[in-house]
Amino acid sequence: MIDSEHRPSYVQVHLEAISENLEQVMAHLPRKTQAFAVVKADAYGHGALAVARQLAGQVAGYCVSNLDEALELRQAGIEHPILILGIVPVEHLSLAEQLNISVTLASLEWLEAAKSLGQDLTGLTVHAKIDTGMGRLGFRSWPEFEQALELMDEMKLEFEGIFTHFATADEKDDLLFQEQWHRFSAWLDRLPVLPRWVHASNSATSIWHGDTVFNMVRLGDILYGLNPSGRLLDLPFEVQSGLSLYSELNHVKQVEVGATIGYGTTYRSEETEWIGTLPVGYADGVVRRLQGFTVLVDGQVCEIVGRISMDQMTIRLPKAYPLGTKVTLLGTCGDQSISVQDWADYIGTINYEVVCLLTDRLPRRYE
Ligand SMILES: *Cc1c(COP(=O)(O)O)cnc(C)c1O
Repeated sequence: MIDSEHRPSYVQVHLEAISENLEQVMAHLPRKTQAFAVVKADAYGHGALAVARQLAGQVAGYCVSNLDEALELRQAGIEHPILILGIVPVEHLSLAEQLNISVTLASLEWLEAAKSLGQDLTGLTVHAKIDTGMGRLGFRSWPEFEQALELMDEMKLEFEGIFTHFATADEKDDLLFQEQWHRFSAWLDRLPVLPRWVHASNSATSIWHGDTVFNMVRLGDILYGLNPSGRLLDLPFEVQSGLSLYSELNHVKQVEVGATIGYGTTYRSEETEWIGTLPVGYADGVVRRLQGFTVLVDGQVCEIVGRISMDQMTIRLPKAYPLGTKVTLLGTCGDQSISVQDWADYIGTINYEVVCLLTDRLPRRYE
């Protein structure tokens, strides 16, 4: 989707805040810990390239979810290590190798498939993924992993890292967390030599289990000023939001009592009311379920009234405002603010999903 530059709806990305959030997390971790910034899904909607460049001096590398996301960074001249957390189809491994992009090895079967292609993958850097309880990707049996290690040797791949991923690091009950941690540690104990990178911590693990990091952490959500537990666990430090979402009034009118607003006439004015229209809608990620929620105008909370359309939405204003008046959908305006978590709570999801909802049609402006 092309971004709509000539429309006054946009995402403001706060790069300095992202840097400071990273600093905060790292200040609470053992000093030798290094960070890989997780910039998958366009850095959770904040813009992968801009975030990667912003953090270049603060991180040891980046994590992405697939080869295309890695290529975006490499082709833009980013030279840091990049690790793909998902599975790369074996036919694309030589491209990863040529561009010095590290891949995840999660099964013997995949490695055998890579070998049977008959390509020379010498030097391809690999992080082995151990499934200690997340149940998504990774080795679950040591003998299978040993065979993979031998095959890696034979194929002259470089065993650069080993990692696991926790399923419940953002929960109060840490029983499964402890189990996963012990399984991973036992796995490491069996290795004759540890690879360069040993990592297990996402944001939640880095924040609430900071004593269990190995030598690298993979930080996503917290960088963007989001609490990975939602509202369940308090953050031990302050973070700042990584983005705001703004639009402006492009139509303002006074309507009589009983006026109908929007598709399906789900809203009727109860008195003489001022209604404002904004050029933003569900095609931008302002999902229809946000009907009844609020935006901020001139420091005041205004209700979203009527159905949210694909490209437009309507709000009830306390009084007349001129065309071009700024509307804050996410962020601060006067003494009021609306957070990504507020949206998430209202529509019944997690803050991760909210930032991923914001589509490419919204230009990202950086400050
Ligand atoms: C997305 C992801 C992360 C980052 O998780 P956050 O909770 O956003 O910090 C870390 N590791 C893996 C394997 C992931 O898929």
